[in-house]
Amino acid sequence: MDCLFCKIIAGEIPSAKVYEDEWVYAFRDIAPMAPVHVLVVPKEHICCADGINAENSHNVARIFEAIPKIAAAEGLTNGYRIINNCGEDGCQTVKHLHFHILGGKKLPDQMA
Ligand code: AMP
Ligand code: ZN
Repeated sequence: MDCLFCKIIAGEIPSAKVYEDEWVYAFRDIAPMAPVHVLVVPKEHICCADGINAENSHNVARIFEAIPKIAAAEGLTNGYRIINNCGEDGCQTVKHLHFHILGGKKLPDQMA
């Protein structure tokens, strides 16, 4: 499958890994929008939030269990933002489900 994040998970494309477990892989965004900008992805290929269902939603639970650990390891003691972009209107550019963790500064308060 021609998926950038599947290739990163497989180690075929290099990444700056910050966390990994059986279900989850996390790495630094190549174009950071904040002092801390980490992408958290399921190892299983899921296209997007629209592709989450009863068979694969355990991956999302694992991701959200990993996020506090990643945030603590990154020193985000004062909070952070989690973003998921889905589809065309959401401006999703990589079609493998991922959650952005942004932090390390006071973020803008507008969402769109
Ligand atoms: P989205 O726009 O929500 O689909 O986010 C995709 C994110 O992937 C963007 O923030 C990109 O900067 C990031 N990105 C693209 N290619 C890479 C890469 N090779 N390594 C790390 N992050 C990447
Ligand atoms: Zn993929």
